[in-house]
Amino acid sequence: MELAATVQGVRQLVGDARARGLSIGLVPTMGFLHEGHAELIRRARADCGFVVVTIFVNPLQFGPREDLESYPRDLARDLQVAAVAGADVVFYPAVEEMYPPGFGTHVDVHGLGTVLCGASRPGHFGGVATVVAKLFNIVLPDRAYFGQKDYQQTVVLRRMVRDLAFDIEMVTVPTVRHEDGLAMSSRNAYLATAERRAATVLHDSLEMARHRILAGERDGAALAAAIRERMEGEPLARVDYVAVADPDTLAPVTRLEGTVLVALAAFVGRTRLIDNALIDVPARG
Ligand code: AMP
Repeated sequence: MELAATVQGVRQLVGDARARGLSIGLVPTMGFLHEGHAELIRRARADCGFVVVTIFVNPLQFGPREDLESYPRDLARDLQVAAVAGADVVFYPAVEEMYPPGFGTHVDVHGLGTVLCGASRPGHFGGVATVVAKLFNIVLPDRAYFGQKDYQQTVVLRRMVRDLAFDIEMVTVPTVRHEDGLAMSSRNAYLATAERRAATVLHDSLEMARHRILAGERDGAALAAAIRERMEGEPLARVDYVAVADPDTLAPVTRLEGTVLVALAAFVGRTRLIDNALIDVPARG
């Protein structure tokens, strides 16, 4: 596996691979890699001739009172995980490499980036879209891999790809979970023991939503209220939002049919966690 810290360096390696006729897969990450990231890399490995993993804690997507400074980092370990999962190159630019003095261009995906997580993290999805657009232009991948765990991110980025005519296939990989259901996340490292136990309330609430729908619930607002109540039953968790929404537009749904997105965010202690499920609503027979 090769390493690159500069735009020029990674372009050279990707250019060589393309000249050899290999297709290019891109897996953007913020590092502190876990099995969720490894699954994205393995998927890219299976589909593509050459796999680029990027590790960049992107300041543009953090709010002024968020965890940019304390975000967990472990490059040495990340390189091992990336190599074992099948990466050909890890691109780990410094902030000044991605945003040199005078950097002034911003990508905003209107509408989709201001609801759900965007409502409590203003500017977050603009920061994500900007860095991903830049990574797309640096690497020019054939395919790019993202996790369903950050479902809204996949919707925002698919819209960006369509709107700006990036010629890239977007692949969404299912959420990888711990045995007790908690979605793997770099931020789980912040959780104290009791908080780690309490954090299962997110997945448990999604399972409850699935069961209610199977039992006949068809009212979106009633389902959202039941989920909120379930989450509020966990004293260590503070609900940020509960959404029962259309998977494409992210707009709230009143009458449940087809496939619905149930998306949640909660603070467990000081750590903000998210999770979601796409649930098929059985047609009434
Ligand atoms: P991050 O490093 O948190 O920015 O995540 C990088 C990529 O890995 C994003 O596309 C995430 O959606 C994806 N990812 C993070 N956690 C998981 C998980 N538990 N399962 C699947 N994909 C994940």
